[in-house]
Amino acid sequence: MSDSSIPSQSSANTSREVAVEIKGVSKRFGDFVALNNVSLTIYKGEFFSLLGPSGCGKTTLLRIIAGLEFASEGEVRIGGVDVGDVPAYRRPVNTVFQSYALFPHLTVRENISFGLRMANRPESEITERVQRVIDLVQISKFSDRKPQQLSGGQRQRVALARAVVNEPKVLLLDEPMGALDMKLRKELQVELLNLQRRLGISFIYVTHDKEEALVMSDRIAVVNEGRIEQIGAAEEMYERPRTKFVSNFLGTSNVFDAVVKRREAESVIVDSRFGELRVDLRGTSPELAARERFTLAIRPEKVTLIEGQDIAGENRVAAKIKQLVYIGSETHYLIETPQMNLSAEIMNTKVGSQGFDIGENATAFLQPAGLIILED
Ligand code: ATP
Repeated sequence: MSDSSIPSQSSANTSREVAVEIKGVSKRFGDFVALNNVSLTIYKGEFFSLLGPSGCGKTTLLRIIAGLEFASEGEVRIGGVDVGDVPAYRRPVNTVFQSYALFPHLTVRENISFGLRMANRPESEITERVQRVIDLVQISKFSDRKPQQLSGGQRQRVALARAVVNEPKVLLLDEPMGALDMKLRKELQVELLNLQRRLGISFIYVTHDKEEALVMSDRIAVVNEGRIEQIGAAEEMYERPRTKFVSNFLGTSNVFDAVVKRREAESVIVDSRFGELRVDLRGTSPELAARERFTLAIRPEKVTLIEGQDIAGENRVAAKIKQLVYIGSETHYLIETPQMNLSAEIMNTKVGSQGFDIGENATAFLQPAGLIILED
């Protein structure tokens, strides 16, 4: 797994062949509804993430797919087969947990071969398959050690090797990097995606880390209070969030209301607290575009800052720098306008540029194509 090149999301070996289908799944614990009528399809070879805040139901959905929990209603099909009556150990899936769940008294190699041994596979086959995954996740140097003699990142690799050795159709991963520090997580994100691409099996990855989901996923389902808010490709989810929740969960947004004033060919002029603004409608659904009132969201990096106060021209707002956070490659600004504070994130592309100072007057430009119309 030393290949440090970042596999592109477009290099996914996805087909339209369905790996897992979830239809109308609900789960109740007593009166509490943990999952509410969830439906989704995961394709073969896809890296699919379930993203949402703590307690939203991600793990419950994963456990239902694994057969560790049963749905109160609905159907789960794996490889076209309804697995409602299939016990966990007979499902063509494997799970990697945050805790790794390795046997402490067994060596790395014994941990990995355990499942194959229980399935009574011939010794020669076990040796060959175990060696193949040891090489794949590059743990041969410590394959004779016990888990407590390994670092967190090394244990995580062993857990992965153990989960893929019996070639499941689907690998379920429940916050597998939750216990690792940020630097290691970032390294392993690339390795995990590389591994998934090489194996070509579907990964269903549970996380509450938006960056992790954006970096690795072909598609993401954002889960909120037991419901799926939106499903889509990583870029689409970030660029075109449908709801306030998705917009704020995948990043930050400036959100405000607007009323339609007049319509033009591919855009609309709205009245807002910032006066008249042009909103580019390309990429907006006809139903949303037809509304008379909009909830608008604009990401901080779509807000441009111009030196001095010059509000002649479209979508310009007089602003003053209130706070700033310099983080090297970019600076995050909180800008004060007479109407509301706005967040802006500006790349520091000029050599030696220090950007704007606190208290400085500026003009904020709200890009017409950066103004997204939300459903709620
Ligand atoms: P986290 O990221 O914190 O693990 P999650 O999104 O994975 O959160 P779940 O573990 O799926 O959340 O839990 C969803 C909700 O269902 C939570 O409110 C949890 O308390 C509840 N829940 C889960 N299992 C049970 C159970 N066995 N009995 C009662 N309530 C449960």
